[in-house]
Amino acid sequence: MLHTVAEGRVEVSRENKYLSTLAPGKVFGELAILYNCKRTATIKAATDCKLWAIERQCFQTIMMRTGLIRQAEYTDFLKSVPIFKNLPEETLTKISDVLEETFYRPGDYIIRQGARGDTFFIISKGQVKVTIKQPNSEEEKYIRTLQKGDFFGEKALQGDDLRTANIIADEQEGVTCLVIDRETFNQLISSLDEIRTRYKDEGVERRRINEEFRDVKLADLRILATLGVGGFGRVELVQIAGDPTRSFALKQMKKSQIVETRQQQHIMSEKEIMGEANCDFIVKLFKTFKDRKYLYMLMESCLGGELWTILRDKGHFDDSTTRFYTACVVEAFDYLHSRNIIYRDLKPENLLLDVNGYVKLVDFGFAKKLQQGRKTWTFCGTPEYVAPEVILNRGHDISADYWSLGVLMFELLTGTPPFTGSDPMKTYNIILKGIDAIEFPRNITRNATALIKKLCRDNPTERLGYQKGGISEIQKHKWFDGFNWEGLINHTLIPPITPKVRNVTDTSNFDEYPPDTEGPPLDDLTGWDAEF
Ligand code: AMP
Repeated sequence: MLHTVAEGRVEVSRENKYLSTLAPGKVFGELAILYNCKRTATIKAATDCKLWAIERQCFQTIMMRTGLIRQAEYTDFLKSVPIFKNLPEETLTKISDVLEETFYRPGDYIIRQGARGDTFFIISKGQVKVTIKQPNSEEEKYIRTLQKGDFFGEKALQGDDLRTANIIADEQEGVTCLVIDRETFNQLISSLDEIRTRYKDEGVERRRINEEFRDVKLADLRILATLGVGGFGRVELVQIAGDPTRSFALKQMKKSQIVETRQQQHIMSEKEIMGEANCDFIVKLFKTFKDRKYLYMLMESCLGGELWTILRDKGHFDDSTTRFYTACVVEAFDYLHSRNIIYRDLKPENLLLDVNGYVKLVDFGFAKKLQQGRKTWTFCGTPEYVAPEVILNRGHDISADYWSLGVLMFELLTGTPPFTGSDPMKTYNIILKGIDAIEFPRNITRNATALIKKLCRDNPTERLGYQKGGISEIQKHKWFDGFNWEGLINHTLIPPITPKVRNVTDTSNFDEYPPDTEGPPLDDLTGWDAEF
């Protein structure tokens, strides 16, 4: 029998030695029931008592049933975890059998960098923050947020057992994880490709890329043509002397103009974010230079030209062309948002085609890394793409990017953004009236309309992408039904438009720019750009 105290108190003793007193709600007798052993202690009524009792057989049936139910629940959950999607049911059941569900309180360090580790974790509820200690300081740098279905802890189990980062439970809600020991991990999980490559040490990979350009100097670069004109100067197509096999884009920015418009902070964060990003849908920054007058950014060149140019020439895109370009942006946003980086400047001018026709995000002048759960207030972006909360100065976060994604879809499908006035003030007024006041041309399909309206909700928290399922809610939307996301990610999907690019110096996909007639800008030696 298993007993539960309902009223009164009982005393527990062993060999006449008092051990403890049990109050209502406490259970005793479970050891003998579970293991079919002799009673290990004596229980004596200390007051008048009322007890509830369950027979062994009955108890075992209940336990077995709850055990099976729990196992089925875990297996179901594991099936929904992307890395496990190709594992046989049998393996998932085995994992479910041995895993332990653990709750961590808000702010708990689940893993500490440098500690020894023997466990692997899958998040089943809530989220965690990943941070890394900065060299020679106590400060921790925020790296990214992981959510339900994400895993962590694999590095220490694969390498030299030291944890490579801190993992901290969500500061508001805490987090629940399924914890798996080293042995199970080695037997059932460690061989999965995804585990080995997923967070393929991004930092290391970026350092490798940057290392390649360590010795390149400004004087080694040969300017071939102008690709575009940005806010602070020209972007030139360049080659490194002696290496005709490849070309780069060199963005030049006038320091005096950056200071005049008080954009110093934005430029520093542009360099930091682009320089660290390692994503196929974001233009890579290889190296930066500076001199008395300019700051320079040496980037990967995208010779397919701006999506804006193609849109202008074609008028508008069909549903499936729009889907491809939107999907590239969704991938770039997924990368940025999971690191709490907000982009804030989506528009067809900032989407460049590479030679294959894949689209990459460029110009991170307004991008910003936010603290977890924080907002930002800087008014920026292009009027037609600005979200209402930015206009109303209510503070905004990554949800503002989802708004602009809806605006981009509309512009790609129709050729003009939904909210357009003859001047910025008028545009802002139209934006504040909301998406429901906008008439959708008939050639926009029902599913596209539905997605645009879900992205352009006035209330940022209601936007698709910002809710529980995160950006995957967008990927799962009906408009994307049947879209080959995997093909997009591994670049096997054939893009809708393949630009004509004859060689690495072909700039025919760019508009022509007359030579610069402005004289050189003033020197700026004040030193604000020391870190650039
Ligand atoms: P930005 O100031 O970064 O917006 O750059 C201005 C323009 O220069 C862009 O709209 C593009 O036309 C061109 N551009 C910038 N970066 C690149 C690049 N990596 N490859 C090709 N063209 C670029």
